[in-house]
Amino acid sequence: MNDNFELYNLKVEVIAGDRPMICKHKVGDYFLVIGEEIIFPENNSFSLYALSAILPLLPAKQRHLHQNDWMLSDSLIACPDPNCGALFKITRIGKQIFSHDECTVVPIDKGDK
Ligand SMILES: [Zn+2]
Repeated sequence: MNDNFELYNLKVEVIAGDRPMICKHKVGDYFLVIGEEIIFPENNSFSLYALSAILPLLPAKQRHLHQNDWMLSDSLIACPDPNCGALFKITRIGKQIFSHDECTVVPIDKGDK
């Protein structure tokens, strides 16, 4: 039985908003999300507070969404510091195929629905 499923790979990048950045973000800093892995380039740092605001959205953005779902249309996340103008843009950068059995020990037909 084919147990494959697809997830989008993501790029999360610092972009400038319409207000100055207060934190140490730099425009163009980014990380990638591939499956369950977050990949930081060696020369990047990333605010843990900003990361905490972004993390809850990533699993949804990895998955196919209904065309009317706001999670599909909305891709800009604000810095959680209310005085900071940084924005973090989530972009889908392709897909990758994963195997259910390589991701979990729970059988496909036994999981809670
Ligand atoms: Zn900030």
